[in-house]
Formats: sequence, structure tokens, C-alpha cells
Amino acid sequence: MAEVLVLSEADVTGLLDLEPLLAALGQALESYSAGRATAPPRVATWAEGGGLGAMPVHLPGVALGAKLVSIFPANHDRGRPSHQALIALFDPDDGTPVAVMDGTRITAARTGATAAVAAGALARPDAAVLAILGAGVQGRSHLDAFPLVRDFRDIRVASRTPGHADALAAAHPAARAVASFEEAVAGADVVCCCTDAREPILESAWLAPGTHLSSVGGSFGPELDPATVRAGRVFVEWRGAAANPPPAGAHELQGLDPATLTEVGEVLAGTRPGRTSPGELTIYKSTGHAVEDAAAADLVYRRALASGSGVRVSI
Ligand code: NDP
Repeated sequence: MAEVLVLSEADVTGLLDLEPLLAALGQALESYSAGRATAPPRVATWAEGGGLGAMPVHLPGVALGAKLVSIFPANHDRGRPSHQALIALFDPDDGTPVAVMDGTRITAARTGATAAVAAGALARPDAAVLAILGAGVQGRSHLDAFPLVRDFRDIRVASRTPGHADALAAAHPAARAVASFEEAVAGADVVCCCTDAREPILESAWLAPGTHLSSVGGSFGPELDPATVRAGRVFVEWRGAAANPPPAGAHELQGLDPATLTEVGEVLAGTRPGRTSPGELTIYKSTGHAVEDAAAADLVYRRALASGSGVRVSI
């Protein structure tokens, strides 16, 4: 019989601080790129309105665990988030289960935070104008995390449903809603694509020279078009984003030679170059990676132990 610490969404929300999360995510990406972590490509099974993905991971010195994440895009109509998850942690010495926690909040936070880590490494140091395309859970996650890596004086928010952009923009003093993706992108230094679109949502001609373009969305189809991907240098969490088909890899990177991609962990470690000129277009294409969940869950677990949060259950 094992005693497992159970942490609710409210517990996780209270325990997850963005500043330490960004630091932990940077270290996790470096560990992965240095070959220290193991995480097989995500697998998924499909139901009528969505699917359930499995993401096991061992991040040595941090966590042994797995995330189960469901994606049901129409869930907002039912008052539920489109992405819901559970994360289980195990003792890396003997495999005993030690914790089960909400993974919905972690998935939301770690995705924008990892994109912010990438932008911190790749955007121009003087980047001051941010565009956020998509005002769902990820739009909010990006609005929370990106101002931690650059001092943005103008944050434009656009979304397919204008009221959603209005509501998100109200959450930050430097943010304002704009009417279209094109208007948001024009002259922006950093552009974040955070939509569930299945067709590309911008044109490369809209992008100013030297933009850092970030794309976490498009789980069911490409959020970026081939011309945009060809126009810049592409950075990823893992080269498997090109070498594996979705739901592990990225729609946008299928058919690309993985050797042409740079891992963000390599840039952070200084083993491969990041941005090489102020005019270069840098593109971060995310698929999400289990090391991000491990890093975030470990932070939450350690803070829960220190604060006595959660409920202990014998199983
Ligand atoms: P939400 O369901 O909360 O929000 C979806 C967003 O996508 C809304 O802003 C919606 O706009 C917009 N949208 C949906 N369809 C279209 C379309 N056809 N054209 C333009 N905009 C559209 O989802 P999340 O914010 O949680 O996730 C956003 C994307 O990020 C998804 O593809 C998701 O799978 C992906 N994701 C990626 C992760 C990663 O690790 N890379 C992790 C988590 C999510 P509106 O509401 O204004 O109509």
C-alpha cells in the first residue's frame, strides 16, 4: 500500500509560481537536449469528440512521472476547459507512487511559460511590442508569462471572437484588444500564436524583420504556413517535433530535416546559436514536452510537502 499526496487544481494554482517555473523549465529543456532525460513520443487514443494523450517522463534529479491529458475542443460549450489533465509522480528509486495532482493548471501554465523561456532566449533584447493571437487558456498563459522576459510597453490581443480578446486584454495594464490578427501582428516584435486553428492564421508578409514568432497551437492542423516556416530559423523543444507525426510531432514541421532545427535547450546551454542577427526571424514551434510537466509537477510537489498542502490517500 502506498500513501499518495493528492493535489487539487486549487492546490496546484496556489503552489505554482511563474518565476521559479521559468527557471525550472529552462533547466528541463537543457537536460533534455543534453540527453539526460527520457520521454517517449506522446501517444493518444481517440474518442468521438476528442482524445486522451499519455506522456511518461524521467527527468533525472527532478521527477519520474506521467501526464494523462484529454483534449476535447468543444468543451467550452459545456463550461469545461478543452485540455484537462492529471499528473502522477513516482519515487525514482523504487517506482512507488507518491503524488497525483491536477495537470490542467500545469498544462496551461507550463506551455506559455516554456514559450516565454524560448522568447527570452531568442527575441531581440529590445523587443517591446507583443502580439497575442488567441484569447483562450493559452492566450492567458502567454499574457502572464511573456512580460517576465521582456518589458513590453504595448501588448495587442486579437481573437476569433472579439469579446474574448476584450476580456483577456483587460487582465493586463499594457494590453489592448485589436480587431484582427493582421492588425495585432503589424510592427510587433514578438508574436504568439495561441489558437486551436486548423489552418494557418497569419502570413509571413505581415511579420516585421527581426520578429520572434511563437506558435503553441494547431494541435489538429497547422497554425503556421510553409512559407512562414521557410522564412525563419526554427527552434523546438525537441527535434522529434519534425521526426514524429502528430500527436507527438508538429503539423508544421512534417517533412523537415530534424537536423535543420535547433532545440531551445541547446541555445540555453550555449551549444548551438540562437538569434544571429537583429533582422532574423526566429520561430519557436511547440508541441509540448513531458519534461515541462515533470519540472512543473516537481515544483508543485516540493512546495506542497513544505507547506503541508493536499490530502494524503492510501491506495
Ligand atoms: P482554448 O480552447 O482555451 O482556446 C482556443 C483558442 O483558439 C481560442 O482563442 C479560440 O478563439 C481560438 N480558435 C479556435 N479555432 C480557431 C480558428 N479556426 N481560427 C482562429 N482562432 C481559433 O485552447 P487553449 O488556449 O488551451 O489551446 C490553444 C491551442 O494550443 C490548442 O491548439 C491546443 O491544443 C494547443 N496547446 C498546445 C500545448 C503545447 O504544449 N504546445 C499545450 C496546450 C495547448 P475564440 O475563443 O476567440 O473564438
